[in-house]
Amino acid sequence: MRGEVHSHLEESIRPYIDLIDTLRSVGIHKDLALPTIVVIGDQSSGKSSVLEALSGVALPRGNGIVTRCPLELRLKKVPGVNWKAVLTYDKKADESVNSSNFAAQNELAGKGVGIRDELITLEVMSPDVCDLTLIDLPGIARVPVEGQPEDIGKQIKRLIMKYIKKHETINLVVVPCNTDIATTEALKMAQEVDPEGIRTVAILTKPDLIDKGTEKTVLAIVHNKVIPLRKGYIMVKCRGQQQINDDIPLEEAAQMERDFFQNHDYFRCLLKEDNATIKSLAVKLTQDLVDHIEKSLPQLQEQIKKQLWSVKKALKDCEDGPPEDLEGAKEFLIKTLNGFNEEIKSLSSGEPMTEKNMFAQLRAEFKKWNDYLNSTKTSCEYIFTFKKQRIPFS
Ligand code: GDP
Ligand code: MG
Repeated sequence: MRGEVHSHLEESIRPYIDLIDTLRSVGIHKDLALPTIVVIGDQSSGKSSVLEALSGVALPRGNGIVTRCPLELRLKKVPGVNWKAVLTYDKKADESVNSSNFAAQNELAGKGVGIRDELITLEVMSPDVCDLTLIDLPGIARVPVEGQPEDIGKQIKRLIMKYIKKHETINLVVVPCNTDIATTEALKMAQEVDPEGIRTVAILTKPDLIDKGTEKTVLAIVHNKVIPLRKGYIMVKCRGQQQINDDIPLEEAAQMERDFFQNHDYFRCLLKEDNATIKSLAVKLTQDLVDHIEKSLPQLQEQIKKQLWSVKKALKDCEDGPPEDLEGAKEFLIKTLNGFNEEIKSLSSGEPMTEKNMFAQLRAEFKKWNDYLNSTKTSCEYIFTFKKQRIPFS
């Protein structure tokens, strides 16, 4: 994948992704949904392995929930620089990233096994990555491990739903080939929010671990014959545990992936069809994201215009703000406080007959009170007479 990923697409792509990244960094995503790729899947389905192969960043791995907060991975292809990464979380930036985000996750989600909604951002600049922004979410867990809240599964699903239900999100669903693909929870969730599969891409991992004899079934799935998705399926082979233990570098793993497909009796055809390998995935994802951004831009512009208009309207209702310089600001503050005092005084003095005047406002209340007293007069008389009549009998 080194250096060669879709260099021809680069120039047309970068401006779109930069635009969205800039909008996100000024906080627009809190008001409007921005086009994003979100990675979901069961625990150990291979999410981190796919992200790692795409980014060249060694992501934390292990058993149980490793990704405990949403991790935004911003990949930027910058020619001629050394690999550099900046981790941002809780408004802090950490440039000494040694390709692990454990510390940040512990700080945000607390040490242990819980999850949190706060986003960690890892920006990677390198000549060897593709231009993409992806969000890695915690894997779907079914059984809580020790120390985890009983409803951890629900919490994770809620977090995942929050991201995938937005129409601006491309859902990347990671499913291992050696499971019953059609019944995977992640695929079901994606189908729920995107029934027509317009913005869902499925990635089938671990083809080397496939249960012998099921190849044809899996091939039918990749060929979109079982659960049709408009954006389709891609099969990838990442590094297995043994290859990680043996420290096999990512480039070598990419070559091994190619060899694997070329030598595979059933899956060889996927290479020609561009439905296999991390490299095809990178090209496809980037193009998908850019198409998606292009489509969303007019709508986004419309939404921004609407919000700007309502903010401007609200601003108009306010008076001019304080001057920028310190001396001017001080004077402005004193003037405002004095004005406030004056207003309170005049409101309580009872003199000017404006609508805001306290006496003018209270007059109506006094009138109501007076009417009420008058209305109870008869009943008082009545009680009095009634009591007088009853006295001789009591
Ligand atoms: P995550 O929990 O979804 O992030 O899954 P990981 O990426 O941590 O992967 C879980 C395990 O599956 C790791 O030990 C990986 O090495 C292994 N793995 C991932 N992809 C493949 C693959 O294509 N082939 C093989 N053999 N193992 C894989
Ligand atoms: Mg993971």
